Amino acid sequence: MTKKLYLTDAQLKSETERCLNCPEKPCKKACPANCSPADFIQAAKPRTNESYVKAAEEILKANPLGQMCGLTCPDRFCMAACSRKNLDSSIRIPAVQAALLEKARKLGGVSAPAPVAPNGKNVAIVGAGPAGMAAAAVLARKGYSITLFEAANKVGGAAKLIPEARLPQEVTEKDWNYIKTFGDITLTLNHRVANPVDLLKDGYDGVIVAVGEPHSAKMGIPGEELAVSFMDYLKAPENYASAGNVAVLGGGAVATDCAITAKTNGAENVEMFVRRRVCDMRLTAEERSWLMDNQIDITSMTRVEKIEKTGDTYTLYTCKTRFNGTKLEDIPETTVKRPDFAHVIMAVGSKADPKTEAAKVVYAGDCNHGGSTIVEAVASGKNAANELHAALTGEIEEIACPVSKIVTYKAKSCTIVEGV
Ligand SMILES: Cc1cc2nc3c(=O)[nH]c(=O)nc-3n(C[C@H](O)[C@H](O)[C@H](O)COP(=O)(O)OP(=O)(O)OC[C@H]3O[C@@H](n4cnc5c(N)ncnc54)[C@H](O)[C@@H]3O)c2cc1C
Ligand code: SF4
Ligand code: SF4
Repeated sequence: MTKKLYLTDAQLKSETERCLNCPEKPCKKACPANCSPADFIQAAKPRTNESYVKAAEEILKANPLGQMCGLTCPDRFCMAACSRKNLDSSIRIPAVQAALLEKARKLGGVSAPAPVAPNGKNVAIVGAGPAGMAAAAVLARKGYSITLFEAANKVGGAAKLIPEARLPQEVTEKDWNYIKTFGDITLTLNHRVANPVDLLKDGYDGVIVAVGEPHSAKMGIPGEELAVSFMDYLKAPENYASAGNVAVLGGGAVATDCAITAKTNGAENVEMFVRRRVCDMRLTAEERSWLMDNQIDITSMTRVEKIEKTGDTYTLYTCKTRFNGTKLEDIPETTVKRPDFAHVIMAVGSKADPKTEAAKVVYAGDCNHGGSTIVEAVASGKNAANELHAALTGEIEEIACPVSKIVTYKAKSCTIVEGV
């Protein structure tokens, strides 16, 4: 990656001053977590230490994973709706958000919320990814005793696979350490729950399942078992260090992370194989520029048909594709043999396990609505917490949730984390 993690003071000043303080707050309507850039930018405008802390509190009451989101939110939410784009360009809202939280935390200014009275009920949350952490935040503020079970040895879920250069684990820990101050939350790491529904028999009043999508999607081609999945690759890229050619199958944001990691890991050439056109690749402007900056080769309108291994190297057999109406089809007799790849990385999506429906068991995040983003997982986790709270107490939160006309989400939530 070529960018610095945080805006400089001069950049922060220039971005906050460009904000028009739009009365309709289109940026807030477009945020899945209902975070309000209009308000947190206004709060930060005096540029005093107190104003940075106020801005941070404004962010965190809607999105307790505000710093993670600031570093990772794509430009299709608040930035896509920002009115400033009609004058020149959208405010760089995620970058402003990340910078404000970093500043406020460095000042030691974001303090724990006031203690909350226990309500006598226990909830188990399975999975300490963004959805599970956000659900824990909301339920802890309602007085629940939370046990968060996590199979891995750290919190963060799939976000742990995001390269350190974009999202340092230290930032995930900062957001998590803040959530831990919300109430009675016990984190149990290295604990895989075999069957979340059984937790009800163990005495929990309710369960939230936020286990993400743990399986890499398959391509259904001969030899695909020879490729390394993006999950295995990004967990330990040093195991696949190579000075040779690396092939990445897939053209999304995860494939982009794999390609750039391979390049920074010493590969001479990295080539992405994409079935559709370059313009169809669902990437942010920033991700596209990273691909260019890192000289990643993109072979588009190409389907990999087969993978073979000879000695230490891999050969791909590829064919060209074309659109037949909206359908993509192979072009006959275009198969080409592409030898000499040191590694082949497969990044064509991920899959969830089937759900087991039961009363007082609520699903949240990517395992519920498919692969998404950290901020959508946060929104889903907040909604799941409210749904479980309603099932356990009969208290239904009626919250009007204005949504943007130009942005679609997998989940939208306007819950405020009480007392933060
Ligand atoms: C390489 C990569 C790059 C990405 N880049 C971005 C980005 O730039 N911006 C963005 O917004 N999003 C990005 N995402 C997507 C984002 O990380 C996910 O959408 C988000 O993490 C989903 O959150 P979740 O809580 O639903 O699931 P997950 O994050 O997958 O968390 C699920 C957790 O449950 C645990 N678990 C699973 N089964 C069990 C069990 N039986 N018992 C106990 N624990 C269990 C897992 O170990 C995991 O920690 C990226 C994802 C990847 C892989
Ligand atoms: S839409 Fe853009 S310019 Fe308007 S208040 Fe939100 S961030 Fe500021
Ligand atoms: S959480 Fe993400 S989408 Fe929401 S306002 Fe902040 S940067 Fe934008």
